[in-house]
Amino acid sequence: MRHLVIVLGDQLDAASSAFDGFDPARDALWMAEVAEESTHVRSSRVRSALFLAAMRHFAAERRADGWTVHYTSLDAGVTTLSDALAADITRLRPAGLVLSAPGDWRVLQALRGAGKAHGLPLDLRDDRHFYATVRDFAAHAKGRKQLRMEYFYREMRQRHRVLMDGDQPCGGQWNFDADNRGSFGADGPPPVPPRAGFAPDALTREVLVTVAQRFPDHPGDLSAFDWPVTRDQALQALRLFVDERLPDFGRWQDAMWAGEPWLWHAHLSAALNLKLLNPREVVTAAEAAYRAGRVPLASAEGFIRQVLGWREYVRGIYWTQMPGYLDRNALDAHAPLPAFYWTGDTDMACLRDAIGQTLRLGYAHHIQRLMVTGLYALLLGVDPNQVHAWYLAVYVDAVEWVELPNTLGMSQYADGVKADGRPAGAGPMASKPYIATGQYIARMSNHCAGCRYRPDRRTGDDACPFTTLYWDFLARHEARFARHPRMALQVKNLARVPAPERAAIAARADALRRGSGA
Ligand code: FAD
Ligand code: SF4
Repeated sequence: MRHLVIVLGDQLDAASSAFDGFDPARDALWMAEVAEESTHVRSSRVRSALFLAAMRHFAAERRADGWTVHYTSLDAGVTTLSDALAADITRLRPAGLVLSAPGDWRVLQALRGAGKAHGLPLDLRDDRHFYATVRDFAAHAKGRKQLRMEYFYREMRQRHRVLMDGDQPCGGQWNFDADNRGSFGADGPPPVPPRAGFAPDALTREVLVTVAQRFPDHPGDLSAFDWPVTRDQALQALRLFVDERLPDFGRWQDAMWAGEPWLWHAHLSAALNLKLLNPREVVTAAEAAYRAGRVPLASAEGFIRQVLGWREYVRGIYWTQMPGYLDRNALDAHAPLPAFYWTGDTDMACLRDAIGQTLRLGYAHHIQRLMVTGLYALLLGVDPNQVHAWYLAVYVDAVEWVELPNTLGMSQYADGVKADGRPAGAGPMASKPYIATGQYIARMSNHCAGCRYRPDRRTGDDACPFTTLYWDFLARHEARFARHPRMALQVKNLARVPAPERAAIAARADALRRGSGA
């Protein structure tokens, strides 16, 4: 055999660079399901099932194309990717390995090691799924004192001619965030549009049985599994999103409502991250709907900003800052992750709802991740690495290149550290910590109405833990943020809190940290 072309669970694209020059007569595909990918963090059963079902469908499609596929299934009992690859190198004796750049530093090291151990050349190719290569991102970052997504995004819009009229952004501005922060008010959301759901076929049902047997104590309700597992299904999901949800996506982008997990979001991150969808077709579909007058500009721009801006930006951050990025802890946070993150068993209504749907479905939208589960961990002072392990485990779309910068940088403000460990003011993901009291959650949702706590109170038995911890966060980091251009005002407000109340805040925050009171 000439080349063994390695295809990982998040590389399910028949047009991937790994297949350039692929000759079905002399080359073969290699895929493996290994236990470690579901156990190195306690991966949601929904996440594991999605990856495995999509892999098996991809392998079946390539076999139908007449390609040879060497596929190790989970039942073979192999623990690691490198063990699986080593066994097949010995058995198949390929002349070389081909791999499109993986999404995870750990996996890249493991596969490089396996090739090296057998003296085999590894042809590592750019992942052209993304608009920007890592080199493009490094060129953008070079010489800049401070990296900001906004400037990168504008460059991407210009370079790829997205939402541009001549050399001007459509509508004369780059950003329509101000139009995109609606909440549902007291009446609640209008009827939520239909969501694409796909009944599991025989291949997926087999996976569901295997995953249930192999990972009985992992979170995730497999009885509700209906994620797209093929490219055809992913394209159907994209079409339905653009027709039904995109018109109001911007307006309701930040809103939350108890018992409504899906709202107007795309639910396309998993299909994108598995590479069943290409970001270009997603962005093009959104822009075409705007140009056809079917979607307001604020919605189209708000959505495109997430895909062309944030998604590409976080990948650049990950690959230019790893492996050191993983250990950053700029706020010196060391509290353990509360046990209720694994059960949802808390009397805080907002956290109970966000964690409950996360553990059940493997999905929560951005504001739930950032301003509920992420915010609570940040205010409590949880070790960012424990927060990272949770986010990597529980979401269907979790792959480290996208999860880590979002968790460690955006939600935990932990990445403001120079390579030598000294504080750097702000990191590349956020210019200030995303902190708020429970009043923010009260404004953006109906959770507080059904909660035993009061978001406007910072002390006392019924004070909202978010509100207590917000003031405690400011007090603990007062010196760090006193002269911060975007935080100084919040720190200044702390001076107005009388000393006895400050002491009561600190005492209650300590109690929350020790696990009592919430
Ligand atoms: P929508 O809200 O409909 O957004 C549309 C698309 O934009 C998404 O499908 C996604 O591809 C992209 N997108 C939106 N926001 C981001 C972002 N901040 N970074 C990168 N892409 C973005 N996203 C993941 O894909 N995998 C993760 O593991 C992940 N972990 C996160 C952890 C934390 C703490 C936070 C705050 C965010 C995380 N995100 C992650 C980003 C974002 O929350 C999800 O992409 C989004 O909620 C997925 O749901 P959706 O497809 O309905 O997205
Ligand atoms: Fe969450 Fe606080 Fe509101 Fe309760 S009062 S739902 S804990 S924000």
